[in-house]
Amino acid sequence: MRGLGVEINGVTMLGLVQPCGIPGNLGLGMCVHGFCVKFGLDMDSSVGNCLLTMYVKSGEIDCGRKLFNEMPRKGLITWNAMINGYAQNGLANNVLELYKEMESKGVCPDPLTLVGVLSSCAHLGALSAGKEVERKMEICGFSSNPFLKNALINMYARCGNLEKARDIFDGMPVKSVVSWTAIIGGYGMHGLGEVAVQLFDEMIRGGIRPDGTAFVSVLSACSHAGLTNKGLDYFGVMERKYGLRPGAEHYSCMVDLLGRAGRLNEARELIESMQVRADGALWGALLGACKIHRNVELAELAFERVIELEPTNTGYYVLLSNVYTEAGNLEGILRVRMLMRERKLKKDPGCSYVEFKGRIHLFFAGDRNHPQINEIYKKLNELENLVKDLDGCKKNDHERREEYLNCMGVHSEKLAVAFALLNTRKETEIIIIKNLRICGDCHLFIKMVSKIVDRQFVVRDATRFHHFKNGFCSCKEYW
Ligand SMILES: [Zn+2]
Ligand SMILES: [Zn+2]
Repeated sequence: MRGLGVEINGVTMLGLVQPCGIPGNLGLGMCVHGFCVKFGLDMDSSVGNCLLTMYVKSGEIDCGRKLFNEMPRKGLITWNAMINGYAQNGLANNVLELYKEMESKGVCPDPLTLVGVLSSCAHLGALSAGKEVERKMEICGFSSNPFLKNALINMYARCGNLEKARDIFDGMPVKSVVSWTAIIGGYGMHGLGEVAVQLFDEMIRGGIRPDGTAFVSVLSACSHAGLTNKGLDYFGVMERKYGLRPGAEHYSCMVDLLGRAGRLNEARELIESMQVRADGALWGALLGACKIHRNVELAELAFERVIELEPTNTGYYVLLSNVYTEAGNLEGILRVRMLMRERKLKKDPGCSYVEFKGRIHLFFAGDRNHPQINEIYKKLNELENLVKDLDGCKKNDHERREEYLNCMGVHSEKLAVAFALLNTRKETEIIIIKNLRICGDCHLFIKMVSKIVDRQFVVRDATRFHHFKNGFCSCKEYW
């Protein structure tokens, strides 16, 4: 076409850019981008949007952002491509920032924008930002959009407000399998497996056919609540009755489920007998179970397998180190440290946050940056002393050793607890979001504090929700 001297315009380029959006074609796509620049067509909005989508879909999010910044006319499609690009690459903070910028420029969102923003709020546990999106839905007339409703259910459940999630679910005139899955998953995360199971059965009675994702949500609910037999039943029925071949995610839930019940060898056999390729999460689930049941030998095996698949995931190194801590195996702990040093891996810094009056208060381990930090440490000291005095809460040697080895300073969730107690009134429920798994010491501490000060705490850690009330936790010591 070029040889014949036919004029090249935006439409020609669109035809070239679109197929480059298919994964694996990025190199070619970049050449086409070069052509666009040469012919002065890169600033054409349709071509620009298409190039932007190509970059974010290929995971080249920085290139995408650069192009986005350079685009002279940004329409809704442009904003959506960038916002959803961030959302799909898990960059939830960037989503919220960009959405704010979009609003300040007076660009009106559509449901696609808001789904991306809601999923990011859910990921971060950013409740007030999520509530703002709900208000925006009303203003824009999207209140009855079923996709947004499902996203709202998920957002409220993951931000700790299960009641609100349930209200929205109950108010939906037509409930799809996605709506059911969202609410079942919500109950599961919060450890209310019995309700999740009831809802799952109710869904089937109502004539809705479960899909693979619905099974993931009910299986994980069973595992969080320790409903071993129920979970095994569902797992069996999945293929037999619904023709759904279990994937790695389903196996992960089953390993969790069997692990929780202490059936570690069965869990291992299940992994080894699988037809799908084991992923990191599967061996990770077994490793987690080994930590709870203090099985060092199997933990070492699971660790070896998991780091073959995910060599840089520091969470697994920390888990193995915790297994050694529980077993009082100092040598093992040092070995893990050496391994991490050799591979130049640093433990993810633990952080927790609380929302207070619409603002997020973020704490790192051993943090000293908060304006109220002196009061917070004073309060914490007070609480630690009260906990020490409480009967039945004598620290054992392992825990003391754990504290000793943990020279990172006070864990962030304790700072968040002290902050929340200083600033909130008695009737407010305290929701704390933590990026890593909560450690045994902090778990015990929050349980005791919930009893001493007669307050409820909801903590979302990397794996689930913990509801602390009157000295007990909803996870029943399994996480
Ligand atoms: Zn801790
Ligand atoms: Zn718990």
